[in-house]
Amino acid sequence: MSNDTRNLQAYRASLLHFHADPAFAADAHAWHEDGLLVVEDGRVHAAGDYARLAPALPPGTPIEDYRGKIITPGFIDTHLHFPQTDMIASPAPGLLPWLETYTFPTERRFADPVHARATAEFFLDELLRNGTTTALVYCTVHKESVDALFEASAARNLRMAGGKVLMDRHCPDFLRDTPDMRESEALIQRWHNKGRSMYAITPRFAPTSSEAQLAATGELARAYPDTFIQTHVSENQDECAWVGELYPQQRSYLHVYEHYGLMRPRAMFGHCIWLDDTDFARLADTGSAIAHCPTSNLFLGSGLFDIARADEARALVSLGTDVGAGTSFSMLQTMNEAYKVARLKGSYLPALRMFYLATLGAARSMGLEGTIGNFAPGAEADFIVLDPKATPLMARRTAGSGSLEETLFALALLGDDRAVRATYAAGRLVHERESS
Ligand SMILES: [Zn+2]
Repeated sequence: MSNDTRNLQAYRASLLHFHADPAFAADAHAWHEDGLLVVEDGRVHAAGDYARLAPALPPGTPIEDYRGKIITPGFIDTHLHFPQTDMIASPAPGLLPWLETYTFPTERRFADPVHARATAEFFLDELLRNGTTTALVYCTVHKESVDALFEASAARNLRMAGGKVLMDRHCPDFLRDTPDMRESEALIQRWHNKGRSMYAITPRFAPTSSEAQLAATGELARAYPDTFIQTHVSENQDECAWVGELYPQQRSYLHVYEHYGLMRPRAMFGHCIWLDDTDFARLADTGSAIAHCPTSNLFLGSGLFDIARADEARALVSLGTDVGAGTSFSMLQTMNEAYKVARLKGSYLPALRMFYLATLGAARSMGLEGTIGNFAPGAEADFIVLDPKATPLMARRTAGSGSLEETLFALALLGDDRAVRATYAAGRLVHERESS
């Protein structure tokens, strides 16, 4: 078949992607040292060895040459706050003073659609610069912030999920909402599954929602079962004690959410640090997922997530930057800190596992396997070109690398946006770094 009638584009580089979790399956990853990714109409047509696939291409198919680089699926960040972009790296002794001093005044400005749109544009470009092609995003309580995020992501044709924050107590009057879900429902109808946009029902966390609001949120989640749910749970000990006072009748902090119908597939719980074994089992049994946010947990001094306990329960785990409490948009830097947190908890995170968590693991956590997260035929062609020699130090370290694991480990520990040579969304180039 001639290429005249088909919209084919091929990319030559080393290819890495996953079809299983390397913590639980042998041969969970595919690695093609001299590989070829073939994209047709924004979707993966084939991924494999160059020597096998190149001869089968129709004559005239363009091949972009990225030899020496590594192509992986685009990173997926399962927890961050776009309105907090401008307050990243703000000093405060702990979560609650940080919310009072920086977060609430910053979020107030998102009632203004012009400010919201400008911030959304910068935020999405920063994600793409860091190789993140999908994210699960908190907006503010203002519907204007949701419209701004989805208008800007639709303009870039990104697979993006987000939603309006719900809170109706223990917050300033200017950010206070009500248990009335009509505004959220209208946003679901406007944005959910429109193009590549997906809606997330977003109660901030149990202390800032009344029981009436959590009950209404649960009803909305039942009425729209393929929307996402996102919230925070068991981030630090003061917060856990506060939830114990507010909801004395519930077995645990996490159980508050289960009581109101907020644990189900596509529910994403940020942090999950101070959980007990029953909580981890409930996450696994309900198909809910964990967003582990190590840079944020270290920054706020919240605590150390225990990935071994989550794995023991077979709970779904993914990685989030949690910007603005997180200190980097880079999923590579997030892996770096996840590795150190695991060490402090006495476990070990291989680089292959970390790349899994940031790609297919996150897609599974979001119920999006087959759509994004690997190079299965028919998947949306969201992919990135990583340069393991992006800096002089990385080049020197990588030259001495004896294995794929070593190369990926150095990339995760030393890399950041400088290591992202190019980012593609649905087969279209959406970020390109000038080569040095
Ligand atoms: Zn957060």
